[in-house]
Amino acid sequence: MNLSTLAQSIAESPTLKLNALAKSMQAQGIPVIHLGGGEPKNKAPRSAVESAAALLNAGDVKYTPSAGTASLRKAAARYTEENYGRKTAGENIIISAGAKQALYNLLFALVNPGDEVIVPAPYWVSYPEMIRMTGGVPVIVPSPRETHVPRAEDLLGAVTGRTKAILLNSPNNPSGALYPAALVEEIVRFCERKDIWLLADDIYHKLVFDGKTAPNPCAYTDRGVEDSRVILVNAVSKIYGMTGFRIGWAAAPRAVVAVMNNIQAATTSCNSGVLMAAAEGALNGPQDGVGELAALLERNRNAMMDALARIPNVRVAKPRGTFYCLPDFSAYGKDSATLCSLLLEKAFVATVPGREFGAENHLRLSYCGSEQDVVEGVARIRWALDPAAPKEILIGGKPVLREW
Ligand code: PMP
Repeated sequence: MNLSTLAQSIAESPTLKLNALAKSMQAQGIPVIHLGGGEPKNKAPRSAVESAAALLNAGDVKYTPSAGTASLRKAAARYTEENYGRKTAGENIIISAGAKQALYNLLFALVNPGDEVIVPAPYWVSYPEMIRMTGGVPVIVPSPRETHVPRAEDLLGAVTGRTKAILLNSPNNPSGALYPAALVEEIVRFCERKDIWLLADDIYHKLVFDGKTAPNPCAYTDRGVEDSRVILVNAVSKIYGMTGFRIGWAAAPRAVVAVMNNIQAATTSCNSGVLMAAAEGALNGPQDGVGELAALLERNRNAMMDALARIPNVRVAKPRGTFYCLPDFSAYGKDSATLCSLLLEKAFVATVPGREFGAENHLRLSYCGSEQDVVEGVARIRWALDPAAPKEILIGGKPVLREW
């Protein structure tokens, strides 16, 4: 078939594919434990549901302004001011279909063919594809395996005359690493000095543990939103558990927002007013749910660390945020895709191969489900891999023998 070269070069999303497979196995009655997921299980805040319901009940659901409704842009601007101490107007905000579209439009707006975008590994699986789709060249910079925290000298050492942007995601998907303030500071100061865009994908910034807060990139620049090279990307998806509402945004100079607006107008026209009303309800409503979610995830993180400690020779950097961790399974001598298939087929545990995130021999395990899922899921992994584990295990109430 005569398809475009670019389209054919874009890989299928491995996480979305895995989700679909795990869900179809569950639908067939197979007792799959899903440690591959990328969304918290909590319900959307009441304020979000009520706000969307009010608009639906009015029945007046039409096209909306392409950059988002004025009221949601204002709410996102206020969120930016409150959380980052950066004075931000509604005109500095563009609302998109999730952080994903905001990032895509941003790359489309900034990157010329051949421009380089520096991405520390491990990285969120979609970054390299998005950069390629918008004509850029992803420049992947590995981080030390023990911490998954990139070194400033490695990141800055990768800068060339073609570097257009550095893309940081902290707390990080897939490792849960929280980049230290000193690292964020050095990168921000460098980018401001050298006129390189710093794209801060901050969608997990409130899901941090151990009494910490995520370093605020805007704290290390005197420049205001119009002059700064630091662009913030956020969403309601993770912190409010509203992944299905598909609303995210970027806070950027007006000139960047204007270009992104044109791109959005030419592609999706606008976002759904119903979903924007929901996001506005979440941003303007009570915020206690966010802290409660972070506390629940911290408990699950602890359960995950305890469970993993029982598998011999598996090393893991303790996550400081998000709902993921990235243990190193290299002691088991299988590449991550093979390991992931084995665990799904034999132990009915869904995981994601680290290879997809630039971390071969690792698995991304998610603890956004229940604590019981975490404990049982990791126990199944141990059963499947550790010859010293008891040969028999109960899966879905039935005894299963390890026969390999
Ligand atoms: N950035 C990161 C780091 C993510 O993990 C995700 C979702 N998994 C996104 C962006 C996309 O978020 P959204 O669902 O709001 O598009």
